[in-house]
Order: sequence, then structure tokens, then C-alpha cells
Amino acid sequence: MANKYRRVYADNNATTPVHPEVQKAIIEALPIFGNASSLHQYGREASHKIESARQKIAGFLGASPEEIVFTGCGTESNNTVLNSIFCGCQRCGKQQKHPHVITSKIEHPSVLTTLKCLERRGVEVSYINVDKYGMVDPHEVQKEIRDNTSLISIMYANNEIGTIQPLKEISEIAHARNILMHTDAVQAVGKVPFKLADIDVDFLSLSGHKVYAPKGIGVLYVRKGINFCPLIYGGHHEGNRRAGTENSLGIIALGKAFEMLEKEMPAELVRMKILRQKLKDGIEKLIPEISFNGHPLDVQPGTLNVSIDYIEGEAILLHLDLEGIAVSTGSACASGSLDPSHVMQALGIPIEKVHSSIRFSLGRENTPEDIDYILEKLPPIVEKLRKMSPLYKR
Ligand code: PLP
Repeated sequence: MANKYRRVYADNNATTPVHPEVQKAIIEALPIFGNASSLHQYGREASHKIESARQKIAGFLGASPEEIVFTGCGTESNNTVLNSIFCGCQRCGKQQKHPHVITSKIEHPSVLTTLKCLERRGVEVSYINVDKYGMVDPHEVQKEIRDNTSLISIMYANNEIGTIQPLKEISEIAHARNILMHTDAVQAVGKVPFKLADIDVDFLSLSGHKVYAPKGIGVLYVRKGINFCPLIYGGHHEGNRRAGTENSLGIIALGKAFEMLEKEMPAELVRMKILRQKLKDGIEKLIPEISFNGHPLDVQPGTLNVSIDYIEGEAILLHLDLEGIAVSTGSACASGSLDPSHVMQALGIPIEKVHSSIRFSLGRENTPEDIDYILEKLPPIVEKLRKMSPLYKR
């Protein structure tokens, strides 16, 4: 008999709980208040902690510490890269008057809305189609290359469906034509085992709150030797690449989160795959007329997106919430828009299946008992909602 007050958080792609070891590190670091730019002991103490975190993160990614720039979030990292291609100042080197960017139709809004804005300022953008699993075909990228292509920006793993892109092949295509390659790896770091050498990108964005660190801290990896213009100007912080007094507490927390990833990730990924499979098998067995969205194999280990025919994802979400289970939907109501998800639409999924989709995203705190609880609660909710649905005729 499941505990009446049980709570299951299965929305880890939205954000993750702060790791207990990271919480401890934050509490320990609270008294460290010095400004890392100050030359005195207080400043040096903060600066030392920041550099130690930078080293840990660089080590995890296979970068050198100078290649790590701390930002406020994944959105800022993405904006920094995209805006810098349009800057046009001497520092950025040779800039096209009307640069061209290649991206995919399923990028996060922090990429797509930034590019929409840049289009109004003269940047040309090609939005590549994906296949029914959300996969970008590198040949499609190649076909779009023009003489003025300055940047290719393709996400590593998709936040809604979990599909993992063939980044290495796309980077090879970019570099063969001297084009810079960026990836939004916010949903890949900590979920897909990789080193930078495996994907060979010039820029990579990541976000602290997706890897069990708190909100308000992100990273932009910038390959050594590549010039770019900051998004935020001011003092000489972060080697003149991101002004603003460093968020030392956030950085220390992020360093600890990466230390924990280094230790826990290999076993966690195996565990996550097993949990996801258990959930997938259970849904398939217990609920008729469903379909899974995303790539069947090249997918993040914790993400499971499913369309449950005849009923609205929002209704399922709200009923699950009443049972203490937290998930997301494939239509974007939860994120403040009534439009159905652009990602699901790009897969060519019929609109009614887009509206009936929900996303489970598992994380380090989920257990097999959580999956049992979801599988106990979900089928009766679906049955009840289907009985009320005018679309469901039985
Ligand atoms: N990129 C992807 C793929 C994401 O999933 C998110 C957040 O959901 C972001 C970027 C934005 O990251 P942040 O919330 O740190 O701004």
C-alpha cells in the first residue's frame, strides 16, 4: 500500500534538487564573503575557492581552467555565444556584415528567441528540420552552409524528448569549413558521458541547476584561442569575458556538484537506465493506446516522453500532482505559453498527440519504489480522464 503522502519528483529536466553534499558545501562557504577581485586576504580566499571550482569543472569536461567562463545560467551562456557573432568589433576578429547561423528547430527558447531577435538585426538563420525522433541529420547541416555561415549551434540533448544529437559529425562538418561550433549542453552534462574531445565544439553552455547545484550559476566553455565578445560589460572579471562580481557561493556549489558527478555519474547512469526502462515497460503494459516520443536508443537515460491518447497532458499532470507526483507536459502551458511544444511539432507528431504528452525526467533521488508508485497512480488517472473525454469512444 503506497504512502498517502508520498511525493515523487520526476521533473529533473526542469530543475534538480540541490545535492546534499552541495548543500553542505554552500553552508560551509557562506562565511566566505570577500570580493574575488580584492587583493587582500578576504578576496584571495574567495578567489582561491573559485579557481578550485573552475579546475574541477574543467577536469570533468576535459577542458583547461582558462576555458571555463562563469555565467548566471544556461540562458546567459547561449545568449553570449549567439550575440557575439553579431558584435562586429575588432576583438571578435573577422565578422560578416550579415552573418549566417545554422541551428535546429528543436533548440531551447534561449537559443531560438535570441536568434529571432538577431534576425531582426540582419543575421540570417537556417532552422534545420529533425526526423520523427528529433534527430538532426548532419548532411542537412552541411547542405545549409553558405559563404557567410559564422556559427552552427545544435543542442546536445533535447530537454523535452531526450534525443541526443550526433555532435561530433556536425562539428567535423563545421570545422572543415572554418565555422565555429556551439552546443547547448544544458541537458547533456551529467546525463551523457562525454569529454570535450569527443564532441570537438568551440563553445558549450551548461547550467548549475540541472546538475544538482543551485540556480543562478552557469558556465560557458570557450575553446582556447577563440575570441568572442561578452554579453555583459563592466570590470575585468572572468578574464574580461563576463563582467560582474563573481557569484562565489554559486561557483563553489557548482564545483562541488561536479565533484559529486565525477564520483556518482557512472553508477547513476546505469541506475537511471534501469528506472526508465521499468517505467516504460510498466506504462506499455498497463495503458493501451500510448506512444513514446524521442529516439528509442540515442536518448538521455532519465527522460521518458509519452503521448497518452484522448486526454490532455495538463489534466494528467494536475491529477498526478494531486497524488504527489511531479511531471511536465509536452504542450507548453506549464511554461507560460498556450502554444503546443515547438519540439513535438517539429517531430511531425499529430497535434492531438502533442497535447496528450507528458514528460517524466528522472534524477538521482528517484528509486524503484517511485516508479512503482507512478505505475500505481497513472493508469486509474488515465482511465478516469478517458471516460470523461469526448474523443474516447468505448
Ligand atoms: N537549454 C536547455 C536545453 C534547457 O533545458 C534549459 C533549461 O531548461 C536552458 C537551456 C536554460 O538554462 P537556464 O535555466 O540555466 O537558463
